[in-house]
Amino acid sequence: VPDVVETIAGLRARLRATPQSTVALVPTMGALHDGHLALVDRARELADIVVVSIFVNPLQFGRGEDLDRYPRTLDADLATLGRADLVFAPSATEMYPDGASQTRVIAGPVAALFEGASRPGHFDGVLTVVAKLFGIVQPQFAVFGQKDAQQLFLVRRMVTDLNLPVVVEAVPIVREADGLALSSRNRFLGEQEKRAALTLSRALRSLATSGDLATARAVVASEESVGLDYLEIVSPSTFLPVGDDHGGEALAIVAAKVGSTRLIDNEAIHLG
Ligand code: AMP
Repeated sequence: VPDVVETIAGLRARLRATPQSTVALVPTMGALHDGHLALVDRARELADIVVVSIFVNPLQFGRGEDLDRYPRTLDADLATLGRADLVFAPSATEMYPDGASQTRVIAGPVAALFEGASRPGHFDGVLTVVAKLFGIVQPQFAVFGQKDAQQLFLVRRMVTDLNLPVVVEAVPIVREADGLALSSRNRFLGEQEKRAALTLSRALRSLATSGDLATARAVVASEESVGLDYLEIVSPSTFLPVGDDHGGEALAIVAAKVGSTRLIDNEAIHLG
């Protein structure tokens, strides 16, 4: 079982004890599953010390979102983190002692699209806490999942734009055998909803083979209990929708509500 530290001072003291060691950070909100553990395994390959942060960041949740409902399962999380060295699990007051931080990172225009369109301010909150975690842990490496593709894109932008001295590593999406992308929110899905949720990965597969958005959107529309938010093809270099004439590498992204649970997924595709 890894050591758990709840304070910034405690974490810094622990890391100061081995100044020559390289550090890889895996930021999470807990409720860990095999997707998170794949990030930990990648971190293990990259650095001497693996720090996993577990923090449900209030700054990235809007009013009326699922901050209070978000699963918090610290004891179970710790039991799965044998391959990590340190777990940083601060309270909200440890991270934001004066209430919400006054200084924030403003994500660029891409943050207004897709996830950001339905969650205003979400990515400013994400980037602010990621910047804080980088400042607290000062890792050489930070490992993120491809599952949150827009978040990964914006974190990379921040690191580039602000010249942060950290190497961002991405890990492919870990899925159930049936294709459902693992997510902490999957635990909210009933049996029927879990089946309906497969529509997301199926629509992405359809896009990968047909490249046709209308057909893929029809796949989602055919499932009554799934409310499509967006299904788009974006350029991996800009995260903006590609034109009809686009050829080559692209990213298919999808978000939908299944019952009351919002799910996202994506897949790299090749447009011929
Ligand atoms: P979260 O705890 O949901 O904020 O996610 C923490 C990190 O785990 C993020 O970098 C996510 O992209 C990553 N992650 C979540 N689910 C998966 C998955 N199924 N496969 C790979 N990475 C994931």
